[in-house]
Formats: sequence, structure tokens, C-alpha cells
Amino acid sequence: MIEIQDVRKSFGALEVLKGIDLTVAKGEVLTVIGGSGSGKSTLLTCINGLEPIDSGRILVDGTEVHAKSTDLNKLRRKIGIVFQQFNAFPHLTVLENVTLAPRKVLGMSRADAEAVAVRQLQHVGLSDKLGVYPGRMSGGQQQRMAIARALAMQPGYMLFDEVTSALDPMLVGEVLDTLRMLASEGMTMICVTHEMKFAREVSDRVAFFHQGVMAEIAPPAQLFDAPQTPELQRFLAATA
Ligand code: ADP
Ligand code: MG
Repeated sequence: MIEIQDVRKSFGALEVLKGIDLTVAKGEVLTVIGGSGSGKSTLLTCINGLEPIDSGRILVDGTEVHAKSTDLNKLRRKIGIVFQQFNAFPHLTVLENVTLAPRKVLGMSRADAEAVAVRQLQHVGLSDKLGVYPGRMSGGQQQRMAIARALAMQPGYMLFDEVTSALDPMLVGEVLDTLRMLASEGMTMICVTHEMKFAREVSDRVAFFHQGVMAEIAPPAQLFDAPQTPELQRFLAATA
């Protein structure tokens, strides 16, 4: 489980997270919505320790992410993260992209890493692309490869930061289908997204961020159909 306790984070004079409290249970699918600059990406990068926090605590399976004694490399293996940009290694094939971290970070043999990679690439529907270079694939295929690459580390948690925002509209569906599949398999996920229909369908809960505050959190039917704050009402009206 992921426990976020009164987390504050500033960049210089700008307070980006103003005391966030949130617990994500094992198997839960949480989506995070909110306007640009509301702190959504910062929250994800704090959870996996890419960014330090100013106060509060984040615990992943009981381990405090920002404690000095925490082995961040070890902790990060538990937490897969996929960003809006594809971040593929262009000079490596799809199979090489997906086997790289299991070999280098987990120390798996080539054969073992390839077995895991082939399984994950099948899982995301890319078993016919093993020898292809990422640049020869569509954005949707590249993003599914990025998901397979994260899954190849066998993480306990997956964080998705607007993974469909850079895609042509035609390619959004195939990536959302991949996320839906992971959700249905019981993966614990935090998905920052602008896809409201998707958020409504897959989420156990939806959190609405506004100016560094988690202004609302509720099951999707409640959050979308009965928004409590004027900020969320305005946000939903603007995205409808
Ligand atoms: P969101 O993902 O909700 O759009 P972010 O978490 O990316 O918002 O950013 C929140 C605020 O923090 C924004 O005003 C952004 O400009 C600022 N910010 C984010 N990262 C940095 C950084 N590395 N240095 C300075 N300011 C940052
Ligand atoms: Mg962001």
C-alpha cells in the first residue's frame, strides 16, 4: 500500500503540494484529475523518490520513501512509472528496450530477461514487434512498449502520468485498453489522466487536485455526478 501523510513540497517560493493525505490500497485503481500545474506530476515523482519532499511522509509497503536509510534503487523496482513522452532507447529493438532494466538492474540472464520481456510484450499486444526499432512504431505502440518495459520489472505498483496525452486521438484507445486490462488484473495503479470517461470506468476512486490541494476524492459516480466544490464543478464543466 502507498501512504501519503501531510506531504508538502515547494519549488522555490511556489508551494506545489500543500499537505496531501492519501492512502492507496493494494489492488486499488486511483485516477488523479485536475488542471495544469495543480501538482499531479509532482505527486507521482515524490512517490517514487525522484523528487524530495519538504515535510510529511510517503510510505510504500511500510518503507519511508524519503528516509535517509531507504535504498531508493531497491524501492523504485517496486514502482513502475510511465510518462507522457515515450522515453524509448531509439538504438535498441523493442525486445532490447524491455530486457535492459531486468538485465542491468535485476541482474537477470539474457534468456530469463527475454522470457519475461516476451511475456510482457505479448501482454500489451506487441509480440510481433520484438525485433523492430521504436521509431518504426506508432505512438500507441511505443507507449505500450513503455508499459511492457515497466511491467518487466515486476513492480507492485504502477504510476501513469498522462500516458495518452501525446498520442493522436486514434491511438488513445489502444493504450487505455492496456491500462484497463492491468486494472482488471488487480494491478495497484495511480493514473493521472485527462480521459474522464476512462477515469469513470476504471477507477475505484478519483482524486481532484486544485492548486496543490487534493480538493476532492470519491468513487467516480460520486465525484463526477455530485461534485462538492465549485472548483471541481468548474473543472468538469470545462472538460465536458
Ligand atoms: P501538473 O502535473 O498537475 O500539471 P506539476 O506537478 O507538473 O503539475 O507542477 C506543479 C507546479 O510546479 C507547476 O507550477 C510547475 O510549473 C511547477 N514545477 C514542476 N516541476 C518543477 C521543477 N522541477 N522546478 C520548478 N517548478 C516546477
Ligand atoms: Mg503533469
